[in-house]
Amino acid sequence: MGEGGDGSVGGRLGRRVLVKPDGRYLLLFEPGGSRQGRVPEEASRSRGAGELRWHPLLREWVTVAPWRQERTYHPPPEHCPLCPTRPGGLETEIPLPDYHIAVFENRFPAYAGRQGRCEVVCYTSAHRTSLGAQSVDHARDLVEVWRDRVEDLSRSPGVRYVYVFENRGEVIGVTLHHPHGQIYGYPFVPPVIERELASSAAYLRRTRRCLYCDLLAEEIGGPRTVAGDGRWLAFVPPFARWPYEVHLAPLAHAGGLTELGPEESDSLARVLIDLLRRYDRLFRRPLPYVMAMHQRPPGRGGSHYHLHIEFYPPNRSADRLKYLAGSELGAGAFLVDARAEDTARELRGLG
Ligand SMILES: [Zn+2]
Ligand SMILES: [Zn+2]
Ligand SMILES: [Zn+2]
Repeated sequence: MGEGGDGSVGGRLGRRVLVKPDGRYLLLFEPGGSRQGRVPEEASRSRGAGELRWHPLLREWVTVAPWRQERTYHPPPEHCPLCPTRPGGLETEIPLPDYHIAVFENRFPAYAGRQGRCEVVCYTSAHRTSLGAQSVDHARDLVEVWRDRVEDLSRSPGVRYVYVFENRGEVIGVTLHHPHGQIYGYPFVPPVIERELASSAAYLRRTRRCLYCDLLAEEIGGPRTVAGDGRWLAFVPPFARWPYEVHLAPLAHAGGLTELGPEESDSLARVLIDLLRRYDRLFRRPLPYVMAMHQRPPGRGGSHYHLHIEFYPPNRSADRLKYLAGSELGAGAFLVDARAEDTARELRGLG
């Protein structure tokens, strides 16, 4: 896989760009196809832009987007907007009888137009499945799609940060059950990333080394390792704030997805699927989680910020959830009921 000209992914997927009647784009990624069309830069303006309000005490942005109240809430499977459009059936977000991986602009975005972007990533056309149930090959294609979107959105005017994430499970607040993730192009660098950038920069100034590289060196093969293949590592960090929190990261320093070579991308797919299968075996049913990809902002932090993906399952046991309450929400101080070494051993044993 080369970098390709014109910012193309240079992988094995083709990409078709369609524009919906309301101006939103739909991207179809297919094996073996070619790259056709450009993503419109001035995307959908059918919705107003979110209103940014500054929180002067916490020094962070709050985005107000009241139209998100109208978004589709737990539709029955036959009305799933992320399924392909069945012949004679209602038109869904993807007006085709089938697809491989599809990305489209959120109908109820917090950020749109020149202010940023909200995309939905449909992992597969199959309704009753999950990311963890996909083949490693399919996950490899998803990594390529993520990379394509990160490259595009990083160049988008108004986008200061590209955030790839997934909310999974009803207890996380998911309103659509079809396996999907999301990508936000924020008009600012979100506070968690700002804090991680500041810590990494301070560590680099003090030691001339990458903070996360040093963290990984401590964790490889240690008591908190969950899985890995020599290129990517999955581990429960010693400072985990959730009982089954896991970090996934490349051992070789990389600031973001677009800096990964082909072997590193394959490895990400392998270790990701490995982790998700362990998660689903843990309580013998699909484990809810938040998946948060942390990478450097476009044009910043290239030398010292290290790409990683954080997973926060809310469960502390099969039938008990950890809720964010007074200490966590009101004071920002997390209390955890489990030791990272114990949960890592549990997850390691599920391979
Ligand atoms: Zn569906
Ligand atoms: Zn590093
Ligand atoms: Zn992080």
